[in-house]
Amino acid sequence: MKKPPGEFELIARLCAGLPRSRRTILGPGDDCAILAPSRGPQLLTIDSMVEGVHFKLKWGTPEVLGARSLTVNLSDIAAMGGEPAACVVNLAIRPGLSQAFFDRLYRGLRGAAAAAGVDIVGGNITRADQFSITIALLGEARGSVLLRQNAHTGDAIYVTGTLGDAALGWRIIEGELRAHGAARKFLVDRFLNPTARLEAGRALARIRPAPAAVDLSDGLWQDLGHILERSGVGAEIDPAAIPLSPAYRAVAGSDTAFALGGGEDYELLFCTRPRLSDAALSRRLGVTVHRIGKIVRGNRAILLGERKGAQGSVPPLTGWDQLRAND
Ligand SMILES: [Mg+2]
Repeated sequence: MKKPPGEFELIARLCAGLPRSRRTILGPGDDCAILAPSRGPQLLTIDSMVEGVHFKLKWGTPEVLGARSLTVNLSDIAAMGGEPAACVVNLAIRPGLSQAFFDRLYRGLRGAAAAAGVDIVGGNITRADQFSITIALLGEARGSVLLRQNAHTGDAIYVTGTLGDAALGWRIIEGELRAHGAARKFLVDRFLNPTARLEAGRALARIRPAPAAVDLSDGLWQDLGHILERSGVGAEIDPAAIPLSPAYRAVAGSDTAFALGGGEDYELLFCTRPRLSDAALSRRLGVTVHRIGKIVRGNRAILLGERKGAQGSVPPLTGWDQLRAND
C-alpha cells in the first residue's frame, strides 16, 4: 500500500540517529530490524495509548506522553522480572498534529528508552481518525520469571511504593478533585510520570522459589484478582497496611478506596515467603516495600478489620480506571 510521502518523511525523521546497543544488528530503515540472539528466554508485550481513551493532549507535554507510552510497557517487563531490550513503535496520526509535536513526543520516548536500556529498532506510521501510540517491547528473562500463577498459601503479599496516587492525580487534572501545592504536584506527577519498577523486578527474579508478581495498572483489587485466579488461591488484605503517600492523605485522608481501586500506579504487587522484614526487602529491591496481607486458601480476596463488611468486593471507581484493561 502506497503511503503519502509525509509519513515516510516523518518516520525517517523520527528514527534518524536513534542510539542502539550491540544487541541491535540492524535498526530502522529496512523491512525488519535484526536483533542478536538473546542469552535466555524472551518476553514480549504490547500496549496502546489512544487519545480520548487513555490520554488527553492537554494533560501534559508531548515529551511526557512519549515517555509514559514506553513506561507502561516497561512495567509489564518489570512484573515478569525481566530486562527490557528493544521496541517497535506504531503511531496512528490524525490531522492537526504538527511535526514539532512528534519531534517532542519522540524526545520523551527516546529519553525513557535510553534510561531503561531499550533500543527503538523500528516504527510505523499510519493515518487514523484517532491519535494513538502502540509499542511492542521485547525483554529478556534473567533468573526466574515472575508468573501470576506462582502464589502459594502462606505467602505474604507485598506492594512497592505507595498506592492510589495516580488515581487521585488523574482526578485532579480532570478537575474532579481539588488539591493544591506540593500535594497536587506530587499526585499529578505520579499519574503522568510513573516509574516502572525494573530494578525491583530484577531483584525479585533472584528469589527462590520465584515469587508471583503483577504490575498495578488496573488497581490493587483487580490486579490482585489476576494472581488469585491464576494461582487458585485467596487473599486477606489489611487495609491499614496499604501504603499511602503524605499527598494521598492530604487529599483523601485515610479513605483507602483510591488505593484499592485506582489504577495507573505501575507499582509491583508480589507474593513470596515472608522470610525478610519489610525494611530488608526494601533494601534488596531498591524501593520501599510494604506487606499488606497474605495468601490463603480460597478463591477471592477479603479485607480485614474495619472494612470487613466489604468482603469480597471493593466498590469500583468510575472513570479512567475502567477504561484500561492492561496485562
Ligand atoms: Mg501488567
